[in-house]
Amino acid sequence: MAAPTTHNLAVDGRRLWETIHETATFGGTPKGGVRRLTLTDEDRQVRDWFRSACEALGCTVTIDDMGNMFARRSGRRDDVAPIAFGSHLDTQPTGGKFDGVLGVLAGLEVLRTLHDAGYETSAPLELVNWTNEEGSRFAPAMLASGVFAGAIAKETALAQTDREGATFGAELDRIGYRGEEPCGVRAFSSFFELHIEQGPILEDEDKMIGVVEAVQGIRWYELTLVGQDAHSGATPMRLRRDALVGAARVVAAVDRIGRARPDCVGTVGLMEVKPNSRNVSPGEVFLTVDFRSPDDAKVAAMESDLIAAVAEITSDLGLEGAPVRIWDQPATIFDAECVAAVEAAAKAFGQGSRRMVSGAGHDAAYVARVAPTAMIFVPCKGGISHNEAESSTLEQCAAGAQVLLDAVLRYDRKFG
Ligand SMILES: [Zn+2]
Repeated sequence: MAAPTTHNLAVDGRRLWETIHETATFGGTPKGGVRRLTLTDEDRQVRDWFRSACEALGCTVTIDDMGNMFARRSGRRDDVAPIAFGSHLDTQPTGGKFDGVLGVLAGLEVLRTLHDAGYETSAPLELVNWTNEEGSRFAPAMLASGVFAGAIAKETALAQTDREGATFGAELDRIGYRGEEPCGVRAFSSFFELHIEQGPILEDEDKMIGVVEAVQGIRWYELTLVGQDAHSGATPMRLRRDALVGAARVVAAVDRIGRARPDCVGTVGLMEVKPNSRNVSPGEVFLTVDFRSPDDAKVAAMESDLIAAVAEITSDLGLEGAPVRIWDQPATIFDAECVAAVEAAAKAFGQGSRRMVSGAGHDAAYVARVAPTAMIFVPCKGGISHNEAESSTLEQCAAGAQVLLDAVLRYDRKFG
């Protein structure tokens, strides 16, 4: 059989929609969301369901020793690594029906569409369900894809405990999902992850598809400003060392720094004021700073600006304190060929697309360290996620699945 260079396959949006709602019953909440924390009984239920759904299509399901699930559909060639796609089926404690779930179930819809059409790809395909993307029960987030990519040590991951003291490894055993295969030995020729945007840009610009070319770099800081507690009535202004006034200036500086360059964001999201009493000029404030940009040089420049701003503010107000960097995650630039496949698929689909950078972290960011990778975004209502109200439409989910299918088939052409 000659290798097909074009296809007219269409995913079944209604079937995908019904599948999303069917799996939402595993951990479904009264408010229409999903509570399916990783390695709980609800997670086991959806995993069992997922395994049977894949096996019904003739796929072979392999589980590695971090609980990651790989459903393989053979291609014409066994000598090439599979084209992989997927996301995660675990959710936040009050999560929605789409975060992660869409990427896995749209992948299932891709396999179902190919199965129904009897379409044979050149490369094998693998649909992946990554364990513990959310990180709410076991920190950090993207734990198992992190081990897969060699970024997190497996022993560390297996020893992580939840609030009740149960370990990740013991819970894997309890639900029966510690597989034989060592995590990370599997090779992919490429990896594609479809995900809801979790931000407002696509909806705001009335675009259907985000062609994700990078995940932002992130640096986090902690800063404790120390002045002196002073009576609010008895201490003249010129004799104060008010840490909260300093913190207010830092907040304004972070906002200014974030706005000073394109493609940068800066946020102070947490602050603790001591003693937090209405008639005391505060002597101590703890705050956090979050800087992100797809350009690591800009993140570094924001850091320099922050250090300079804090030095000026503390000297001006007679305070002590300097920012301490506690996390540095470099930007992930996705593979040009994978991004091109997604972009071509999005253009062929024809409902409006744009290139964009992910503001949130995803399994794909780790996988990109070991395989050519790209992501596809579809809009979600109001940009709301990690919330039971999270919502995308049938049309948006179907559009994402169609672009995923087309991107995978376009990439498959290179194998012949
Ligand atoms: Zn997610």
